[in-house]
Amino acid sequence: MPPTQIDLRRLILLLTLAVALLLSANGFYASYRTQREQLIQQTQEANRVYAAKLGQGIEQLLDSIHLQLGYSATLLPKWMDQPERLQEETERLLRQSRIFNAIFVVRNDGLVLAGSPESLGLLNQTLRTNGALEALQKHRFLISAPYISARNNLVVFISQPILDHYGRYLGYVGGSIYLQQQNVLHRLLGEHFYQDSSYLYVVDRDRRLIYHKDPLRIGDTVVGNPAVERVIAGEMGTLQLTNSDGIEMLAGFAPVPTAGWGIVAQRPLAVTEQELNRLMLDNLRQALPLLLLSLIGIWWLSQRISRPLWQLARSAQQWGTDESLEQVRNIKTWYFEANQLKRAVLSSLALMHQRLGRLSQESLTDPLTGLRNRRGMHQQLDSWREHRQPFAAVALDIDHFKRVNDQYGHEFGDRVLQNLARLMANGSRPSDLLCRTGGEEFLMLLPNADLETARQVAERVRCSMAETRHGECSAITLSAGVAHWPETAEDVEEVLKRADEALYQAKNEGRNRVVVSEAAYA
Ligand code: GH3
Ligand code: MG
Ligand code: MG
Repeated sequence: MPPTQIDLRRLILLLTLAVALLLSANGFYASYRTQREQLIQQTQEANRVYAAKLGQGIEQLLDSIHLQLGYSATLLPKWMDQPERLQEETERLLRQSRIFNAIFVVRNDGLVLAGSPESLGLLNQTLRTNGALEALQKHRFLISAPYISARNNLVVFISQPILDHYGRYLGYVGGSIYLQQQNVLHRLLGEHFYQDSSYLYVVDRDRRLIYHKDPLRIGDTVVGNPAVERVIAGEMGTLQLTNSDGIEMLAGFAPVPTAGWGIVAQRPLAVTEQELNRLMLDNLRQALPLLLLSLIGIWWLSQRISRPLWQLARSAQQWGTDESLEQVRNIKTWYFEANQLKRAVLSSLALMHQRLGRLSQESLTDPLTGLRNRRGMHQQLDSWREHRQPFAAVALDIDHFKRVNDQYGHEFGDRVLQNLARLMANGSRPSDLLCRTGGEEFLMLLPNADLETARQVAERVRCSMAETRHGECSAITLSAGVAHWPETAEDVEEVLKRADEALYQAKNEGRNRVVVSEAAYA
């Protein structure tokens, strides 16, 4: 069995499908890439703006702390030796600012003059913590690095020096923010941010976390984080980075210059990608109807393209028949190549039919005399039998033709045969069928002629043959037998036999005569 071959319709379908898929995939991929790029940029930018906004919020907060402590510092010099007033002031500050977890007034030797809440119990003690020592040293508004306080809290300490009106340093007023407890940063930075795994954190200038969603990490130093490195260098910007849990993050960062802090807001890349996937799926869903519609269109078109070719190919199976030309003519070829093919098929079909016609004509004709040969005769007889066409048959045979051949040569004999054919034509009607059934045996089939008419025709041909001069040879005669169907024979085969028998009889009776089949008189 030959391998099954793919047909043109499927081929076009496949090809178009492949191209369509390739183009769509390409477009889809390109759009995926740009959308991804855009989404990443947007996310990073949103984080940067968010970080910057929060940075501003913290700046404002520090500003207001500065103002509040500054104002307090102007009131305090006159109360330095009135512990109750100092205590009142620390309580007022704690209540009003709602920023600090604790407030102290400390003398220039480090002794705590007042402190709120009182529960801390640090009154009249000397503070030796980092924040306290730094404040005593530097005599200016100060935001400390995180450190462990006297009461074991991780704190940031913000202090303002107290100067008398001569500018002498009397001590400082300061407040602690407890980093690991609810504090102002929590209020400011909020917690709504964590819902889609986004989060933010704040580092101080030494890369220590002062705010993070995970309280356990507060106080840790962040190592090797490019966003932290850049933000503590005072830069604002965006970055794609891997966080400490190995998760890819899209980060935006902004500094808080007053405190030397940095805020980093970040969102997992995977969340953004999920969003992108949802978006792309939506796109795909929207494109699907159009895609389906194009597929149907392609299917329809491929049908239209292949149909004429298919019809042309199928018509080839019937090229032998007469209807094939008409069939091919009726095929609708709506595009150039199919039309060319149809024209080529039509012209070769016409040529083929012409040749076939000639061939079949040749195959039915005797080339020497132009009369019908045996096959041609049978073809006609078949048709007469079918239509029950009555006819007479005259069998002719040249007398002693062998001798003629021997005496004058074969070519001469051939000319005699041709002469006889002419005489037969002269002696008959156009509707009669004249055949050369053998070497020098002839048959005249006369439709609608009765036996007597046929006998007269045979007689006419015999006489004209006898009277004709064939070159040097003057007397060549012939004998004939006549039969009729249905008068002397029951069927078509038999009438030829009867005519032959009559001919045989004519030969026996001395030649150069016509004998009518006796069956007619039986
Ligand atoms: P008769 O019919 O009178 O009994 O004698 P005949 O000599 O004609 O005998 P027959 O009919 O058997 O003759 C056949 C001869 O016809 C033999 C052959 O030489 C000759 N013949 C047959 N076909 C052709 C042909 O195509 N051309 C020529 N020139 N001669 C042919
Ligand atoms: Mg013969
Ligand atoms: Mg003969």
